[in-house]
Amino acid sequence: MRKSVIVGNWKMNKTPTEASELLDQISKLDLDREVEAGVCTPAIDLLLAKDKLSETNVNFGAQNMYFEESGAFTGEISPTMLQDIGASYVILGHSERREYFHEDDELINKKVLSALDHDLTPILCCGETLEEREAEKHEEKVRGQIEADLEGISNEDIEKVIIAYEPIWAIGTGKTASSDDADSMCGYIRSIIADKFGEEYAQKVRIQYGGSVKPNNVVELMGKENIDGALVGGASLKAEDFESLVNYNK
Ligand code: PEP
Repeated sequence: MRKSVIVGNWKMNKTPTEASELLDQISKLDLDREVEAGVCTPAIDLLLAKDKLSETNVNFGAQNMYFEESGAFTGEISPTMLQDIGASYVILGHSERREYFHEDDELINKKVLSALDHDLTPILCCGETLEEREAEKHEEKVRGQIEADLEGISNEDIEKVIIAYEPIWAIGTGKTASSDDADSMCGYIRSIIADKFGEEYAQKVRIQYGGSVKPNNVVELMGKENIDGALVGGASLKAEDFESLVNYNK
């Protein structure tokens, strides 16, 4: 039985002053303990998240990291730094990083391997553009990303990875993939994992949907067989919406 996992991606939002206020509100929420919940904050807010969420069941994590442990990599944060502060997750391969910061699958693969080596749970994002969807190339695109990004990962480690299927045309646009399309792509991703690692392992991997998930569509999405959670941008920035998302079962 896979545990549902709802994670907020704050993106480049919330100054430390604002983050402090939101984290205080989140720390007071009455959240369903059957659901794994987390927030991935900007790097500058991570220590606040560690402090303010310490007495709660809400995990925290980063939105990116470099794969090396230390050294002359100005501006980067490392897996050892995230491990040192007790971060649970690191989002890797988000479409915004692939597009604006030119991250390719080779780099993302190194980051996934490094995160696993440092006991961080990678939330590996994949997804197609609107053009690729319209040209019916979405499966091919996602298969290419998943196969390349998971290269060299052991059977033992694959179950620690969370995959987020995020069609790029649905991110921040208010357009959600239909729950059937989202389910079918998450099922397709599971079949890719099964091809690479075997069915037994594929059944253990949690696959989230991301793309304009809101309190008003989360129940339908989470009701689908292959959707084990959600990676949520905009709607995770308000405590009451985050509460409704995590408490989708209540
Ligand atoms: C995201 O940032 O990963 C995301 C899915 O954003 P939004 O929920 O705002 O579409």
